[in-house]
Amino acid sequence: MIAENIKEVRKKIIKACEKAGRNPEEVTLIAVSKTKPYSAIEEALTTGQLDYGENKVQEITAKYEMGNTDINWHMIGHLQRNKVKYLVGKTKLIHSVDSLRLANQIEKDFAKNNEVANVLIEVNMAGEESKFGIKPEETEELIRAIAPLEHVQVCGLMTIAPYTDNPENNREYFKKMKQLSVDIKAKNIDNTTMSVLSMGMTGDYEVAIEEGATMVRVGTGIFGERNYNI
Ligand SMILES: *Cc1c(COP(=O)(O)O)cnc(C)c1O
Repeated sequence: MIAENIKEVRKKIIKACEKAGRNPEEVTLIAVSKTKPYSAIEEALTTGQLDYGENKVQEITAKYEMGNTDINWHMIGHLQRNKVKYLVGKTKLIHSVDSLRLANQIEKDFAKNNEVANVLIEVNMAGEESKFGIKPEETEELIRAIAPLEHVQVCGLMTIAPYTDNPENNREYFKKMKQLSVDIKAKNIDNTTMSVLSMGMTGDYEVAIEEGATMVRVGTGIFGERNYNI
């Protein structure tokens, strides 16, 4: 099932790119394997899927220990400062930086290993109280504060759009995210590229791609419903 689902999602990604006049190679599919056993990842790997997203540090480290060094691990969940050290040497991209305090901790822990952490700034575009992320209007200021950190490279922005049955409801947030990234890119801030726009999940990734997403994070649409009680 998982392999078929991935192929289906890839087809839809290509369709959304065609509709928007974009090159599908600009869009990376991140398979969100949180709560799923490693055997689910093994099935996904048969399709050549190499990017996986987890929202808990413990899950990244446990699955990393399985030893497949071809896998790119993406930390997509809220990150506590005392857990940053466990990600050193193990993550391709941290999607969830939303404070200078967290960035400073990343700087400290990654510097010890002489490693540069690639990060995205998480923006709470819809202003939902339940969500982490910085306000859109504070994003530039945060990036300017992070820019001098030698072991933190800001690669772009990430957002989690509101849960909705109708993906069109989120189009405005994706549009605003794209504009924010274009505006910040134009400022040419040191150490900052804005080449990544991580937005869109199972319910709305096609709309997100139409609006400029370069990474989509799909969990349920690949691995099925999650069971948090096990
Ligand atoms: C769980 C999660 C996803 C995947 O959500 P689905 O709706 O299952 O596709 C994407 N992004 C983040 C940050 C998540 O925590």
